[in-house]
Amino acid sequence: MNLAELGTFLHDCQQCRLASGRTQVVFGTGNPQARIMFVGEAPGYYEDQQGIPFVGAAGKLLTQLLESVGLSRSEVYIANVIKCRPPNNRDPLPDEVETCKPYLLQQIQLIKPKLVCSLGNFATQALLGKKVGITKVRGQVFQLSDFVLFPLLHPAAALHQGNLQGPLREDFQKLKQVLDEMAQAETETPASSPVAPSPLHSQSSIPSPPPAQMDLFES
Ligand code: SF4
Repeated sequence: MNLAELGTFLHDCQQCRLASGRTQVVFGTGNPQARIMFVGEAPGYYEDQQGIPFVGAAGKLLTQLLESVGLSRSEVYIANVIKCRPPNNRDPLPDEVETCKPYLLQQIQLIKPKLVCSLGNFATQALLGKKVGITKVRGQVFQLSDFVLFPLLHPAAALHQGNLQGPLREDFQKLKQVLDEMAQAETETPASSPVAPSPLHSQSSIPSPPPAQMDLFES
C-alpha cells in the first residue's frame, strides 16, 4: 500500500467513536517523500472543516516558523496522531490513540522521513513512548530506530502562552542546525550507509505509547 492508498483506505474509517462527530478524516498534507515530518495531536475546528492539518492560527504560526528556517509546507509532510477531530477539541482518549496511532506509524514507514518533529506533549509522548513533559525534552534530538525525533512546543501552546513563542523560535533555529548536520552527514556518507546525526539522546526502538490521556499544555 502506498501513501495515497492509505489515505483512501482511511477516507471513511469507522474504527473509533470519533468517526461520528467529524466532518472528514484529516489524513495529512505535503510531500509524500519528505525528509522532515511534523506531527501534531488531532484536527481542530478549521482542520476538520478543510480536511488539512494545521490550517488555523496555530497552522499559520507553523508556516511562519517553517519559513524562518527556509522550509515550505510543500516540502515537508504534516500530520496528526489522531485523524478525526475530537468533540469540542477534547483530548483524545487512550483507546482512540491505540486505534489511530498505527496509521501514523504506517504514514511514517511509507514517507520514510529522516527527521520527525513532534509538536507538543501528546505527539511527543506518543512517538517517544514515554510520559515526558515537552518542556523537558523540547529542542533535543532522540535517535529512534527508523528516524530522528525532534520534539518541539506545540504552536497552539505558544499562541496561548506568549512566553513560549521565544523558546519555540529558538528550537526552530536548533532544528535548522540539526538539518544542516544531517545534510552534511549525507554528503560525507555513502548512499548505502545509514545517516548518523549527532544525537544528544538515543533510543533503540519506538515503544508503544502509554495508554494514558495526555495534556497538550502540560509541562
Ligand atoms: S480517529 Fe482514526 S481510527 Fe478513529 S475513525 Fe478517525 S481515522 Fe479511524
